[in-house]
Amino acid sequence: MSDDKQKLVATKPLKFKTPIVQERFANMTQTAQKLAKEMSDWAFYNYNVELVFTSTWTLAAEDMKLGRVSDSHRTGRAFDIRTKGLKEDFKKAFCEYFNALYQKSLGAQTKDGPMLIVDKPHGSGPHWHVQVRRGVK
Ligand SMILES: [Zn+2]
Repeated sequence: MSDDKQKLVATKPLKFKTPIVQERFANMTQTAQKLAKEMSDWAFYNYNVELVFTSTWTLAAEDMKLGRVSDSHRTGRAFDIRTKGLKEDFKKAFCEYFNALYQKSLGAQTKDGPMLIVDKPHGSGPHWHVQVRRGVK
């Protein structure tokens, strides 16, 4: 939360694609959980957008089925947010805001430097893959 006004509003309950995705939210790291809540609140209170979380913690066997190479979901460091239907100006503002705040400090290390939000336009439905650096609790 970046200002006092935001601290006064109640936290909006997170919206999940399925009860299993919701149940597994608790298996993510504290940092990933906090970041997901902050993103949900920011979208809702600033843009009246209700984000839908489509993936949280996963099992290795499920990752294999999906052809996921990264272990970021099964280690509780990543979650996915549906982007289908979101307006371009919102998506731009969202990525700029959260990258400015957290990309350097929390973004997962890649060959191109820290990456916090990965835009996945295809696959199991367009989504943002949000990933926290290995070792951050
Ligand atoms: Zn993902």
